[in-house]
Amino acid sequence: MEKKHIAILGSTGSIGRQALDVIRQHRDLFEVELLTANNSTDLLISQAIEFDANAVVICNEDKYKEVHDALNPHDIKVFAGMGSVCDLVAGDNIDIVLTSMVGFSGLSSTVAAVKAGKTIALANKETLVAAGEIVIDLAIRHGARILPVDSEHSAIFQCLMGSAGEDIEKIHLTASGGPFRTWSREDIAKATRAQALNHPNWSMGSKITIDSATMMNKGLEIIEARWLFGTPGSKINVVVHPESIIHSMIEYADGSVIAQMGHPDMREAIQFAFSFPKRLPLDNKKLDFAALGNLSFFAPDMDKFPALSLAYEALDKGGNMACIMNAANEAAVAAFLQERIGFYDITDVVAECMAGAEFVVRPDLDMVFRTNEHAYALALEKIKGIAGRKSF
Ligand code: MG
Repeated sequence: MEKKHIAILGSTGSIGRQALDVIRQHRDLFEVELLTANNSTDLLISQAIEFDANAVVICNEDKYKEVHDALNPHDIKVFAGMGSVCDLVAGDNIDIVLTSMVGFSGLSSTVAAVKAGKTIALANKETLVAAGEIVIDLAIRHGARILPVDSEHSAIFQCLMGSAGEDIEKIHLTASGGPFRTWSREDIAKATRAQALNHPNWSMGSKITIDSATMMNKGLEIIEARWLFGTPGSKINVVVHPESIIHSMIEYADGSVIAQMGHPDMREAIQFAFSFPKRLPLDNKKLDFAALGNLSFFAPDMDKFPALSLAYEALDKGGNMACIMNAANEAAVAAFLQERIGFYDITDVVAECMAGAEFVVRPDLDMVFRTNEHAYALALEKIKGIAGRKSF
C-alpha cells in the first residue's frame, strides 16, 4: 500500500483522537499533513509535535499566537480561522480528509475538500443531512470519493462489497437505543444532562451522545444513508440492537441479509476508510461468539423517541427541511447541555422549527447556509421562551 497523506479536521475531538491512534499503529503507511481544532490548543500542539504535522489550523483566531509560539521551534506551519482550513484541505500534499468536526460548522471545509477531489473519510454526518444532494453532486462532478466513518454506514459500505451491484432491498440501520431505551416516557421527560451523557456502549463527544439519547443520531443517520447509498427513506429500517455488535445490515431482493459485526470501537471504521480497499491489523478486542451468547433486537419506540419520525418526515419533504431539522437540533442540544431546557424540549423545538421555518424546495449551497442561520435563530427564540417558563 502506498503511503497516504492525511488531514484530520477536528483532531482534538473523540474521532480525531481515535484516528491518530490508528495512525500511531501504522506510522509507515499514514502521514499526518494537517490537523485542525476549534479551541483545544494544548492537545493540538502536542498532536502536531508527536505526528510531525506539516501544518495546523486553530479555528479560534484569538488562540493563534499561543499555537504559533509553541510550534515555531518545530518547523510546523500554523494558521488560524475556518478560511485557512478550506484553503489547506485542497493542497496537493493531501490524499485523505477526515471530516471529524462537530455539526453544521463542518460543511464549508467538507465542500472545499470535495471540490479539490480529495478522498473524504466522512465522520461529520451533519454535512450530508444539511446538504446531502449538493455534496454528493459535487463529489461526482469533482471525482471525490466519500468513504463513511460513521460505524453504521461503514458497515453498510462493507456489506455492499459482497454484492455484485444488485439493488438494495432494505438497509437495516442498527441503534443501541441509548441510555433511555428501557425508561418510561415519564422518566425520560425528567432526564438530566448527566443521565443523557451516560451512553451504554459508545464513547463519543457530548453532542452526538445527546443525539443518541434522543435517537436523533439515528434520524440523522437515516438521512446520511439516503445520500451515501442512494436508498430512499422507505427502504431504511431502524432496528434497536442494544449490544451494538451488528453495526448494520443490508437485505437483498431474495431476503438474504448481510451484516457487519465487531465490538463497538470507532477505530475499525476510521482505519478502514484510511486503508480502503486494503485491511490492516488493529489492536482492538476481537469477537468471541460463544462468550457473546445472545444478540437481541427490538423495534424502535416512535412515541418515546419522536426524533425518528421527524427525520423520516424531513427526508420525505426534501428541500431544505433536513437542514432546518439539523439546525434546530444543534441549537436545542446545546441548550440542553447548558441545562436551559428539558429533554423532550429538544425534539419539541425541532418539530416547531420544522413547522415554522421557511421551506425551500431546491436550495443551493448559499440557501443551505441561510437556512441553517435562520432555523438556528428561530430555535434560539423558542428555547428562550421555554427557558423563561421553566426552572432547572
Ligand atoms: Mg453511528
